[in-house]
Amino acid sequence: MRGYITIPESIQCKVCKYCGSRPIIALAGRDEYVVKCPADDSHYQTQPGMIDIEDWNLENIPFPEPEFDDANMVACYDSKLNYTFFLPAFSA
Ligand SMILES: [Zn+2]
Repeated sequence: MRGYITIPESIQCKVCKYCGSRPIIALAGRDEYVVKCPADDSHYQTQPGMIDIEDWNLENIPFPEPEFDDANMVACYDSKLNYTFFLPAFSA
């Protein structure tokens, strides 16, 4: 039977960094599995083999926060590691 295994909610895994889909586990061979994006095969998928959610997670670290052209924009983390962007007040 060829199909997909959905990853239980109890397992911590990152969503696809391209489209935000929760990954699935797909059979890639007789005994091999890939962790992949269900939406698009061109999005990241792990090498066939063991179910490697760790590898998926490492590859799907979200893109860095958007870069602002405005060099005056200041980014900082709060205590929960959330980004905050703000424009310092101009004194001009
Ligand atoms: Zn995707």
